[in-house]
Amino acid sequence: MNKKTKTIIWVVAAVLLVVLLAVLLMDVVGGAKKILFDEFAVLLKETFTGTDINGDGVITKITELSVEPYKWTAVVKDGDKVIATYTTIAPEIYSFDSLYSFFALLAPEHVNSGLSQLPFSLEFADPNAGSIWSSLLPFFGLILLCVVFWMVLRSTSGANPSSMNIGKSKAQMQSNLKVRFSDVAGAEEEKEELKEVVEFLKSPKKFQALGAKIPTGVLLVGPPGTGKTLFAKAVAGEAGVPFFSVSGSDFVEMYVGMGAKRVRDLFDMAKKNQPCIIFIDEIDAVGRRRGAGLGGGHDEREQTLNQILVQMDGFESTESIIVMAATNRADILDPALLRPGRFDRQITVNLPDVKGREQILKVHARNKPMAPDVNFKTIARITAGFSGADLANLLNEAAILAARENKKFIENVHIFDAVDKVEMGLKKKSYVMTEEDKRIIAYHEAGHAVLAGLCKYCDPVHEVTIIPRGNGAGGFTMTRPAEDSVFTSYNEMLDDICMTLGGRVAEELVVKNVTQGASGDLRMVTATARRMVTQYGMSDKLGLVAYDSDQPVFVGMEYGHTDKVYSEETAAAIDAEIRRLTSEAHARATKLLMENRSILDNMARVLVEKETIYTEEVEMLMKGANWQEVIAEMDKNGEERMKNPFASMVKDEPKTDEPKTEEPVAEPATKAEEPAQNAEETPADGENTNE
Ligand code: ADP
Ligand code: MG
Ligand code: ZN
Repeated sequence: MNKKTKTIIWVVAAVLLVVLLAVLLMDVVGGAKKILFDEFAVLLKETFTGTDINGDGVITKITELSVEPYKWTAVVKDGDKVIATYTTIAPEIYSFDSLYSFFALLAPEHVNSGLSQLPFSLEFADPNAGSIWSSLLPFFGLILLCVVFWMVLRSTSGANPSSMNIGKSKAQMQSNLKVRFSDVAGAEEEKEELKEVVEFLKSPKKFQALGAKIPTGVLLVGPPGTGKTLFAKAVAGEAGVPFFSVSGSDFVEMYVGMGAKRVRDLFDMAKKNQPCIIFIDEIDAVGRRRGAGLGGGHDEREQTLNQILVQMDGFESTESIIVMAATNRADILDPALLRPGRFDRQITVNLPDVKGREQILKVHARNKPMAPDVNFKTIARITAGFSGADLANLLNEAAILAARENKKFIENVHIFDAVDKVEMGLKKKSYVMTEEDKRIIAYHEAGHAVLAGLCKYCDPVHEVTIIPRGNGAGGFTMTRPAEDSVFTSYNEMLDDICMTLGGRVAEELVVKNVTQGASGDLRMVTATARRMVTQYGMSDKLGLVAYDSDQPVFVGMEYGHTDKVYSEETAAAIDAEIRRLTSEAHARATKLLMENRSILDNMARVLVEKETIYTEEVEMLMKGANWQEVIAEMDKNGEERMKNPFASMVKDEPKTDEPKTEEPVAEPATKAEEPAQNAEETPADGENTNE
């Protein structure tokens, strides 16, 4: 705020003060006695009846009465001399008629023939006219206030003239956003998926002319700080369309009914500005599963959610509005939100891997002077588990440290100190990975992947990563079916069990100290084995009998299964069979991994270095390539892969629209996943055990 506006504000404030004082003084000088309306009515009654009603020995005779809305004043005069003035806050009286009925009520015998016979003179203020002063004062005040606000606003928000608030909807509209895809680093696959949305927003007519069905809603799912908001803005920026943003939590703080109204306002506004993007950040605040949760008081949220659904369903095919939303947790969202025509497109935004982190660092270092020996590769290497926001924060902290030392450049020391500092904050949230954690997870995932490669009936490996994905997975190994096969044969199931046990077995072989990371795997193995025995009749001992009812069985539901239709002995036999199947698979997995130990070691090493590998690398490793060769190859192809992140996926099969992660429910696991490596449970001593 500059000096000139400051003085203006002071002057305005002073004027306001003087006006206020004047109003107060006028009241005091008038010397009217303020009384309750009941007392006032008594005085009026005394005037009409001429009797001492309040028993104070005086019969008050009002000589003048002035009636304004809410403010009545009575003057008692003796000749020309004012004896007393009374004022009260009164109910509003709209007309002479209503005033007359009031008097008639007050003193029925004495008020019978019209107002002309009143014992006092009456001044009846027209509510529309009023005295000049009293009606102009608030008006002036308002104008002054507006001026002051306008000045304050202008002096603070002058920086961004293109953003504005939409009425009461609390949403922000921004046009001409400067954010581009190039500002979002590393997330190539996500970008690729969003490019389609950009294209549609750029030329909606082209798509509509061909009758193409356009996505209404795009849901960005991913951990905090991975750039979901940034992505939404980049889409608007790339397409050059207005961006209406609102946060889910904005809807819930207000009175009942406000949330729904805000949603309506927001969508109305968007409809007038097509094509455009509506972005609902943190949609879980309103979009939580209905009827779940604690206590009552969900009305407001539900109404808001319903309104969002209604609005999205109401889109015509000619409308070119895309609703984007972001959440950390898709699993708690109301399923209604995910139905076709609503947020039917989900894009997972993951924590960045080494390469992604390097690129994010480069983006955020663009306007920071770096010492020449700062190596982003190294920083990326030591920041596993950091999100994009953490990395931005890291460079900012480093800049602050450098500035404090009056340096011209940000040097390595500053960065390493900043890493420690940011990490400390992250440790509390327990998702930071030490080198030892990385090594354990790498062996675990390599165990899955190597066995998937060795077992004849396992699907080929698509991706292996040690970067946590989604809720609490330490890493994962993803296979994709080579062809669509609905049947899962005995051999496939056995191989699947073997491969799923691979993580645990690798830990047993190498780390000699098994972590809790394999519990998810074990649950899955047990589930598959149980199905083999009890549903598919795949055990000779128990024969061709389906012991469990034929309801679709979900992994994880099995333990709660109570409606057993067989005896205790059979139950024991089933358990024994499950144990036999799994321990045989365990033995086979151990044998295979011991025989192929060098592949396991090499793959784990590549994973520690690169964090994520794909089909090609897995194949190279399975053929016996050592880790240096694979890494060299990856570095060589690196540039190309950046340009076309799908190269490896579309190599020998046409791109299907089959989702690439989630497995169909009834099929055995193709994806092995396990709970988070909790950083607090592998404490500092993890770093100084073996190398
Ligand atoms: P989210 O909405 O997923 O919580 P944001 O979009 O708010 O995350 O990201 C916060 C900040 O982190 C961004 O403003 C940006 O500076 C930084 N950031 C996150 N991801 C990236 C990325 N992929 N590339 C560049 N910067 C990123
Ligand atoms: Mg966000
Ligand atoms: Zn596993």
